[in-house]
Amino acid sequence: MVSFSVINSLLSRRAVKYSSSIVLRRPYWLSSKLYYSIQVENRVQDKLVSVKWDDGKITDYPHVYLRDNCRCPSCFDPQAQQRIISNPIYHNYANATVKTACMNENKDKLHLEWINDGEHTSSVFELDWLKAHRFTGDDKKDVHPIKRQLWGSEIQNDIPQFHFDRILNDKSELYRWLRCVMERGIALIVGLPKRVGQVEKVAAKIGHLRETVYGYTFHNQSKGDQATTLAYRSGGLALHTDYTYYDNIPGIFMLHCIIAANEGGESQFTDGFKAVEQLRASHPKYFQTLTEFPVHHKDIGTDSYNFNLMAKHPIIRLNENGDLKQICYADHARTSRIDVPHYKLTDFYNAMTQFLRYAYSPANIIQFKLQPGTLISVDNFRVLHSRMAFVVSPDNFRHIEGGHVDWDGATSCMRVLEKELNIDYRTSNI
Ligand SMILES: [Zn+2]
Repeated sequence: MVSFSVINSLLSRRAVKYSSSIVLRRPYWLSSKLYYSIQVENRVQDKLVSVKWDDGKITDYPHVYLRDNCRCPSCFDPQAQQRIISNPIYHNYANATVKTACMNENKDKLHLEWINDGEHTSSVFELDWLKAHRFTGDDKKDVHPIKRQLWGSEIQNDIPQFHFDRILNDKSELYRWLRCVMERGIALIVGLPKRVGQVEKVAAKIGHLRETVYGYTFHNQSKGDQATTLAYRSGGLALHTDYTYYDNIPGIFMLHCIIAANEGGESQFTDGFKAVEQLRASHPKYFQTLTEFPVHHKDIGTDSYNFNLMAKHPIIRLNENGDLKQICYADHARTSRIDVPHYKLTDFYNAMTQFLRYAYSPANIIQFKLQPGTLISVDNFRVLHSRMAFVVSPDNFRHIEGGHVDWDGATSCMRVLEKELNIDYRTSNI
């Protein structure tokens, strides 16, 4: 890379209208960082503004990027925190050119003068903003970058537990619970009244319930052979995630036990992300297979109305960074259609089988019977659950009320609480 002293010496021979080379000292109350030692160069021919930061790294900001992200009052609404765009950006952004780039007197802002940009003539950027947008390539950020903690059967008697009244009345406790669902994928809430309507109260603290074809909330009671979903019968259900037949799958489910079955009805949970990471380590090809081939799911039936839901997802979904995003697995809702060439079908089944070996491994799975007055909250993108068969009798009618919230609602609530309670999400002890 060409050093900046060399670049500076070339300035007179290049079509550079302005450059500055300034050591900035920031007042200590403005930033925990006391010094900026920053050099700025406007490389007009390349249509780049180069900034050499105090750590020696250089960021080349394309003029078009700076134009697109102008923070002036006619380009950006600080209240809405959104761009004000009356025309599509191709109208002028490609031509807009930075004529001069210089620091302000306080040495904390970069001023740009524009040409070929219609009525728009200037922009001001906070150095902190520019520094936060350096595009180093190694700063890929999740929209909510809280690290997940994988678990196994060691949490059998140690499932994180929260109290209903505190979640309803204490925002810190509400945050701790949501954060736990994000980090661990599972949390119990105890102390609920043993009657319907409590799931809705919890969801209302986050935002609103996610309605499904089974209603605003659903009532998991045995409806006998008439039920069009197996969940509403009394038989067992193998490990699965819920609503795989939705394209937009509900992110968190909550099950409130109102009446437990005297006989049977235990639940099992396994950390699907742990099972999948084990699969990735031991059988990388199987792991890849499960990320590649979409499996079709459907749910056709009647609850409050007739429905016919179909969706397809690979069993393992990754985000852009290759990190785990979601597991979509439900044998009972899986159709016979898998988007995989016939000669890869056997591999596909072997991959599923190996995944399930980890999911069902005694070292990974936990089992217990949800007690009346208790709610289990589960990350449906991550944790698989199952239910043992139960016995229904006239004097013992198992009753679970369930409901969902989307992860969008939960993470939104967490960000609001982080701001309101002044919580830094990077702090581990909340
Ligand atoms: Zn502007």
